[in-house]
Amino acid sequence: MQRIVIVGGGAGGLALATQLGKRLGKKGLAEITLVDAARTHVWKPLLHQLAAGSFDTHAEEIEYLAQARWNHFKFRLGSLVGVDRHNKTVQLAASHDEAGREITPAQQLGYDTLVIAVGSQTNDFGTLGAAEHTIKLDSPQAAKRFNNRLINACIRAQTVPRSAGSGRLTVAIVGGGATGVELAAELHAAARVLASYGLDNIHPEKDLQIVLIEAAPRLLAQLPERLSESALRELRKLAIEVHTNEKVVEVTEDSLKMASGKVVSSSITVWAAGVKAGDFLTALGGDAPLECNRLNQLLVNGNLQSTRDPNIYAFGDCAACQQPDGTWVPPRAQAAYQQAMYLARALPRLSAGETAPPFVFKDQGSLVSLSEYSSVGSLMGSLTKGSFFVEGQLAKLMYWALHKQHQLALGGIKKTALITLSEMIDRTHRPRIKLH
Ligand SMILES: Cc1cc2nc3c(=O)[nH]c(=O)nc-3n(C[C@H](O)[C@H](O)[C@H](O)COP(=O)(O)OP(=O)(O)OC[C@H]3O[C@@H](n4cnc5c(N)ncnc54)[C@H](O)[C@@H]3O)c2cc1C
Repeated sequence: MQRIVIVGGGAGGLALATQLGKRLGKKGLAEITLVDAARTHVWKPLLHQLAAGSFDTHAEEIEYLAQARWNHFKFRLGSLVGVDRHNKTVQLAASHDEAGREITPAQQLGYDTLVIAVGSQTNDFGTLGAAEHTIKLDSPQAAKRFNNRLINACIRAQTVPRSAGSGRLTVAIVGGGATGVELAAELHAAARVLASYGLDNIHPEKDLQIVLIEAAPRLLAQLPERLSESALRELRKLAIEVHTNEKVVEVTEDSLKMASGKVVSSSITVWAAGVKAGDFLTALGGDAPLECNRLNQLLVNGNLQSTRDPNIYAFGDCAACQQPDGTWVPPRAQAAYQQAMYLARALPRLSAGETAPPFVFKDQGSLVSLSEYSSVGSLMGSLTKGSFFVEGQLAKLMYWALHKQHQLALGGIKKTALITLSEMIDRTHRPRIKLH
């Protein structure tokens, strides 16, 4: 039986394992194994909400083992560290618990077809002090670490007298892309809830100063200018300090220094600028390495096969896939999702020696959530012939629909409806912000 190994159970990999499990695994046509370094899946676009404490991971986390059992694939816990292309095996590092005790030993896993979907990490471009003094919002663990520091800092700030004209706590966010903008608004909303819970010395406008720093001339530089202006207007209404055209050149424990010489003090600094794939990808394949670009992404052809090995596929943030018009598929959840759906259809055909049309990314636009205050976005595609802009409640609804699309791919209609119902019930009796 054909062995298909998928490494990385994120926005793309888990959707692919689920679809292949249902199409091939259930009928005994292939053995599908999903490998992930973590035991549970959290949809990455929710990380800024996890960081602000405005959503409960336990309600949103998906247990890989249970998802595998329900959808006819196997799950292995492990971190990919190497690929032997000649013997068609992957090497997984040993995994350990918090106390350093070994959970699983180093393992080897054989494959006929390997799919790599290990995502990306935040890129600090080697900025002085960034590795030591910033939190990077690229994993649920990092988001939880940030949340703990935030809640502790808020509780501590209550005990410190407010000096005239200054706040007690400053959170600086480096990167005014979608992640930075969304986090800034989410933090403001979280502080409002905390104040209403009795941490009344943490007034979002007086005590928690949120500073957003962007090197480009405007926020949301990848999106149309009109969206940048809408987002900036909303953030200014919330008294969030925005610095554009300012490149951070050094981070210390309590401050940031810009190329212009400006210095901003900061109690907690989040780095939310730039993405790159893991360094380990450049060494995959040993003496016959797979081809990577300067962001460590694996280069793939139109069928998402790596350029040097047709039995190894890569997609999502860790892959570089050029489109017929010369542009590259962007590192976004909607791209990873579309590629997963494409591979679920194309991979069985390609493995059987048939041909399949190349993957074409359909940009459905971008939505940026400004927490409970608003959302802004642009929709693109054949239906709209160009792009049109959405704001407010309509954009909020569309942002919510993106997450529902992911849940649908993993659980089907019935389960998604039940999850939605339980979310609505939860909202009536759970605190809106997690305090631990
Ligand atoms: C805060 C935030 C907000 C975002 N908002 C949006 C949005 O609104 N819309 C949008 O389209 N995109 C958004 N994105 C981008 C989106 O999350 C990514 O593009 C998407 O998750 C990429 O999917 P993926 O499957 O390639 O990787 P991921 O979803 O990152 O999954 C990678 C998986 O691989 C596993 N893994 C990593 N290394 C290894 C290893 N060595 N061995 C085994 N497993 C490994 C990880 O544990 C993870 O489960 C956002 C990102 C962030 C951080």
